[in-house]
Amino acid sequence: MMAGYLLARAGVPVAVLEKHGDFIRDFRGDTIHPSTLELMHELGLLDEFLKQPHQEVRELRGVINGQTVPIADFTKLPTRCKFIAFMPQWDFLNFLSSHAKRFPTFQLLMEHEVVDLIFEGDRVIGVRAKTPRSEVDVHADLVIGADGRHSTTHTRAGLEQREFGVPIDVLWMRISKKQNDPEQSFGFFQHGKLLVLLDRGDYWQCGFVIPKGGFDEIKARELAQFQNDIVSFAGFLQDRVIELDDWSKIKLLTVQINRLRDWCREGLLCIGDSAHAMSPAGGVGINLAIQDAVATANLLAKKLRSGPVSENDLRKVQARREWPTRLIQGMQVFIHRRVVTGRASGDKQSLPFVVRLLKWFPFLRQLPARFIGLGPRPEHFRSPSVGDIS
Ligand SMILES: Cc1cc2nc3c(=O)[nH]c(=O)nc-3n(C[C@H](O)[C@H](O)[C@H](O)COP(=O)(O)OP(=O)(O)OC[C@H]3O[C@@H](n4cnc5c(N)ncnc54)[C@H](O)[C@@H]3O)c2cc1C
Repeated sequence: MMAGYLLARAGVPVAVLEKHGDFIRDFRGDTIHPSTLELMHELGLLDEFLKQPHQEVRELRGVINGQTVPIADFTKLPTRCKFIAFMPQWDFLNFLSSHAKRFPTFQLLMEHEVVDLIFEGDRVIGVRAKTPRSEVDVHADLVIGADGRHSTTHTRAGLEQREFGVPIDVLWMRISKKQNDPEQSFGFFQHGKLLVLLDRGDYWQCGFVIPKGGFDEIKARELAQFQNDIVSFAGFLQDRVIELDDWSKIKLLTVQINRLRDWCREGLLCIGDSAHAMSPAGGVGINLAIQDAVATANLLAKKLRSGPVSENDLRKVQARREWPTRLIQGMQVFIHRRVVTGRASGDKQSLPFVVRLLKWFPFLRQLPARFIGLGPRPEHFRSPSVGDIS
């Protein structure tokens, strides 16, 4: 959506195809990072954006083995907004698409599921999409595959993908929220296990990290036992964990980390999770996908105004975005191995050494804040808007 917005803003005719009829999918996180908020400011959208319902988190805290510890302090970031805004992603997408629709060259095609690529020789020249009524072909100078971690575009293009083993999956469910509940935190860690709670106004979106492939084993036990597990992390949920009274209310989300060797071929560029699927660790995947979109528009918008771009042009996007992606995925692999699966937990009551450092030396909390809030190589808009292009 961000790539579509920016290209249309530059006067490039764009059609964004979305397979669903709305954006209400709860499988994505809710984090809008300071770097994304800075981009909203650069676009002149920030004030209106911040009028949408959201929560502002200036310091991320974790509850580790029962102790609340500060992890990241965003208040010193060199950005206009020194906080993470938590906003359901459907609100963010609706906001962005409503603004994109103001550009005459922007088109949003809902209920258009891309099922195949159209080729002319080796070059991708469009997509075939399934709609509730029929199949349609959409031709384009460039197809941008931004279709997430189960990407049809990169699969159909035969782009080679490297998987980095992930030892976890996430159980995803809702529990209602009450007024006196504690504030949103980074998560509840206990002996190498983790429960994340995202504040969605009147309910908590809960993510419970489990060993990969372990859901069947959990389901083989009583549901009450699972409810007890949740309460052992966040005792304040005791009076409502009973809401999880059926396994159908608990969804399994498989977590992946992978990266394409080549993010493009002639006529096709993959960005976001389609090029590099991110795990929820650190809550950075949305930000990274947006940064890819900005780099795409910065590097390609002007050329796309006058027609197709070369494979060489597309490679420049990968060259710009690949090392930040490698760095962040490396961090996620580290978190999975050392923190989430518990190899670093040592004495069950104690805090990991790194966390103790963060507790003792407040200035160190600026480092995770920079990494999460800005990420390596933050992008700024350089793509023109329609008014700037002659
Ligand atoms: C359990 C879990 C929790 C997470 N929590 C966070 C978090 O808190 N913060 C964070 O930053 N990241 C989080 N992430 C990672 C984050 O969700 C992704 O990195 C991010 O959503 C990638 O954005 P994207 O636009 O590339 O893909 P997506 O957000 O997956 O968007 C892809 C879009 O394409 C559409 N689509 C898919 N296939 C087709 C098709 N064939 N035709 C047409 N449309 C199609 C989809 O409906 C969707 O709208 C989490 C990941 C997981 C698994």
